[in-house]
Amino acid sequence: MTLGPAELAAMIEAVARRISTERVALNRLDAALGDGDHGTNVSAAFNSAVEAIAALNQPSASDVWLAAAKAVMNSMGGASGAIFGSFFLKGVPVLRGKDSVNKRDLEAVLEAGLKGVKARGKAGVGDKTMVDALAPAVTAFAGADDFTEGFSSAAEAARKGADSTRDLIARHGRAKYLGGRAIGHIDPGAMTVAILFEAIDKWSREAW
Ligand SMILES: [Mg+2]
Repeated sequence: MTLGPAELAAMIEAVARRISTERVALNRLDAALGDGDHGTNVSAAFNSAVEAIAALNQPSASDVWLAAAKAVMNSMGGASGAIFGSFFLKGVPVLRGKDSVNKRDLEAVLEAGLKGVKARGKAGVGDKTMVDALAPAVTAFAGADDFTEGFSSAAEAARKGADSTRDLIARHGRAKYLGGRAIGHIDPGAMTVAILFEAIDKWSREAW
C-alpha cells in the first residue's frame, strides 16, 4: 500500500474539512490561553493549502507538500505559521523524487516534520505546545506495521498527548505569562494536531 500525490492531497483536504468544523472550538480553547484566533487561522491555513494544491498541474508528492508548506506559512503568518509551515517544509526533501510514498517514507516525513516543529518553536515534550501531541503521534506511527494501524495509533496518541497539555504550564507564546493559570486548559496547537491525525485516520478508513 502506497500513497501518491493524489492521496496526499486528499489527506490534506480531509484535515482542512475537519479543522474547519472545529474552528470555533479551537478558537474557544485559544481564548483561554491566547487571543482566541487559533481556529480561524489554522482553518484558513489548511483551506489555503487545499487551494494551492488544487492549482498545481500534475504535482509530484514533494510538490504537494511544498505547496502546503508555502500556503500555511503565507496564510497563518507569524510564529504559528512558521511552525506549522516547517512541519510540511521539512518533509519536502524526504519526498523529493518519490512517485509513491510507502509507510517508511511517511514515517520519515513525519519525523522530519516533528524535528522542524521542535527546532522552529524551540519546544520539547512537556512545554504545552503542539509538540506534546505531535511527538507521541510520530512515535506511534513509526511503531505500527502499516498505514492503517499507524494512522489509528497516531490519532490515539495525539489525542492523549493533547489531553496531557491540560495539566501543564506553558513555556512558550502568550500562555507562558499566565503561569499556573494555564493549568486546566488544553493547548490549541496540540488539539489541532490531534484533530489532524483523527481526520487522516478517518480518511484512510474510508478511502481504502
Ligand atoms: Mg493567536
